[in-house]
Amino acid sequence: MALLAVGSVALDSVETPFGTRREVLGGSATYFSTCASFFGPVRLVAVVGEDFPDEHVSFLRSRGVDLAGLVRRPGRTFRWSGRYEFDLNQAHTLDTQLNVFADFRPELPETYRDSSHIFLGNIDPDLQRRVVEQVRSPRFVAADTMNFWIESKRASLVETLKRVDLLFVNDAEARQLAGEHNVVKAARAILSLGPKAVVVKRGEYGALFFSGTEVFAASAYPLPELFDPTGAGDSFAGGFMGYLARARSLDHAAMRRAIVLGGVLASFAVEKFSLERLRVLNGDEIRSRFAEFRRLTHFEDLESDIL
Ligand code: AMP
Repeated sequence: MALLAVGSVALDSVETPFGTRREVLGGSATYFSTCASFFGPVRLVAVVGEDFPDEHVSFLRSRGVDLAGLVRRPGRTFRWSGRYEFDLNQAHTLDTQLNVFADFRPELPETYRDSSHIFLGNIDPDLQRRVVEQVRSPRFVAADTMNFWIESKRASLVETLKRVDLLFVNDAEARQLAGEHNVVKAARAILSLGPKAVVVKRGEYGALFFSGTEVFAASAYPLPELFDPTGAGDSFAGGFMGYLARARSLDHAAMRRAIVLGGVLASFAVEKFSLERLRVLNGDEIRSRFAEFRRLTHFEDLESDIL
């Protein structure tokens, strides 16, 4: 099983109630591949500019991420800046500079074309499709998107959704994409656009999984320290897809564990700014938080006794 990821590799500038960081490492593919790399190898497809610091490339290499598909082009690296108010669930985009992403046309290295699992991270839906079309016979394709693309490229996004098995969206984006206030109805409407499953991410409230008639609700880990929600969604996807590729199964039990592991990785990502916490994370910490999640949501089944 081989996991391929395309998305942004970025320099982010972020303001939260707890501090400000300028031009730090970010991007959907960066968070995703770092988190997925704990479970197995990841093949990255992305573009950076001439100004992208070598130390960030070395960091991704140190996580075992395959960088054959990371290209450097003349120009500036993608930049995103955002602000979070006291309610950390809602990111306010201050500025998006596509820079080298504006005319990026991903060409997959031959060695990537047999990938079994694909994550189409948050980038232009035209590019997402271009990537999926170059993989010979993918087993499981997941995608993420955001308001920026829902507003500016809806028709293209709808085309991408026809090629996707699972869509990750946050609750506001689910409502926006479906034109429906109720999250359950919004998820059903998204399923009618093509994906077989949808994960609605609800920030500090956890995530809901919808597939056919199945619904699974996972709590988020109640964190005492939360500094920067940037990358939570991609870290969730990284934990989810990294585990699925490792598990070699797509059954309901594997999906549920994947959702919990998504929550585990996201909970670490937000503990510090940028990828600071993920840089020092280890497998034992992941295992022990997974066990805590289990305790958090476990209760005895005493159905006959409750009333
Ligand atoms: P999230 O996991 O949803 O918090 O995504 C955070 C990352 O998405 C940031 O590190 C940004 O660099 C990246 N990002 C923000 N806007 C865009 C966009 N329009 N296209 C691609 N990546 C983006």
